[in-house]
Amino acid sequence: TLILGLESSCDETAAALVTADRAIRAHQLAGQEADHRPFGGVVPEIAARTHVEALTPLVAAALAEAGVSLADVDAIAATAGPGLIGGVMVGLVTGKALALAAGKPLIAVNHLEGHALSPRLADPDLEFPYLLLLVSGGHCQLLLVEGVGAYRRLATTIDDAAGEAFDKTAKLLGLGFPGGPAVEKAALAGDPKAVPLPRPLVGSGEPHFSFAGLKSAVLRARDSGQYAAEDIAASFQQAVVDCLIDRTRRQLGAVEATALVVAGGVAANKAVRAALEGLAAEHGLRFVAPPQWLCTDNAAMIAWAGAERFRAGLVDGLDAPARARWPLDPHAEKARGAGV
Ligand code: ATP
Ligand code: MG
Ligand code: FE
Repeated sequence: TLILGLESSCDETAAALVTADRAIRAHQLAGQEADHRPFGGVVPEIAARTHVEALTPLVAAALAEAGVSLADVDAIAATAGPGLIGGVMVGLVTGKALALAAGKPLIAVNHLEGHALSPRLADPDLEFPYLLLLVSGGHCQLLLVEGVGAYRRLATTIDDAAGEAFDKTAKLLGLGFPGGPAVEKAALAGDPKAVPLPRPLVGSGEPHFSFAGLKSAVLRARDSGQYAAEDIAASFQQAVVDCLIDRTRRQLGAVEATALVVAGGVAANKAVRAALEGLAAEHGLRFVAPPQWLCTDNAAMIAWAGAERFRAGLVDGLDAPARARWPLDPHAEKARGAGV
C-alpha cells in the first residue's frame, strides 16, 4: 500500500510517499522561514499564497523521487486541520483534486493525529496504548493513544503552547525566527541556573500545563538588564523541561502504557528528549521519540496517519471540510470548554 501525503497547515509545504510497511519512498519539504522572518512570525495570508506556489511542484517532485505515478498510489492523505485555515484549504483542495483526477480515495487527516502517530512510523515495535506528550507550536497535551482515532486527552495547556513559549522567548531575546531552534542554540552557551524563573503548575493537583507566566518572567529578566541572553535562554529551557517532566510524571503512575512517547516540533529539542528519556528509565518504561525531522511539520507523518487510517477502512468523501479547530479528543474539549 502506497499513500501520498500532503501538509500545508502552517509554514511548511510538504509532500511525501509512504508505504504501509513504513518505507518512506519520497519526502519533499519547503520551509517558508525566509518569507515570514521579516515579520517575526508566521503571516497567514503569506503562508497560504506560498503553499499555492509550492505544493503542486512538491507533489511532482515526490512522485519523481519515488519513480511512481499517481496511478501507483492507493490513497491520498491531506491535512484537513487544525491550522491556519488558508493553508489548510490549499492542501485539502489539492488532495481532493488529485483524488478525483486519479480515482483514488481521499483521507482527511487531523494534523495532530499526524504528530501523534509519527512515532509508530519511526518505531515498528511501538504498540498501543502509549502515553504521548504532544508538544508543538500550537499544542501542549498529554494523551493516552489507545488506537487509531482513539485519543484520550489527559492534560492540556491553560494558556500558551510549549512551542509558542519558545517562539515568544526567542522574540523577546532577539534571537530570531523560528524561535525553538534559536533558543536551544543560545541555551548551549548559557547557565540554566542563572536566572530564577517560575515553574507554573508544577506540583499542582490539576493535570494541566501553563507557560504564560514563564514568558512574563522572561520579559522581566530581560528588562532588568542583569542577565545575558544566553543565560535567560538556558534558564527558560530548563523551566520548560521541569514543567513538562513534572506533568508527565504525574500521569505515569496513573495510566497503563507500553511506552512514554514524545512528538511535535518541541520534541526536536535535545534537552526535552534527554529529560523524558530519563523519566521513562525511572519508571522502567520504553521511551520513543521520532527523529528530529519527523518531529517538526512534514508530510511523511500525514502519509503515515493516512496509511494507518486506510488500513482501518477510514476514508473520507470529497466534501470533507477544512477545519481551523479540530480537537483529537472532542469529549475532553467539551467537558473543559474551548481552549482547555
Ligand atoms: P501544531 O502542530 O500544534 O498545529 P505547528 O505545526 O506550528 O503547531 P510544529 O511544526 O509541530 O508546530 O512545531 C513547531 C514548533 O516547535 C515551534 O513553536 C518551534 O519553535 C518548536 N521547535 C522546533 N524545534 C525546536 C527545538 N529544537 N527546541 C524547541 N522548540 C522547537
Ligand atoms: Mg514551521
Ligand atoms: Fe505541527
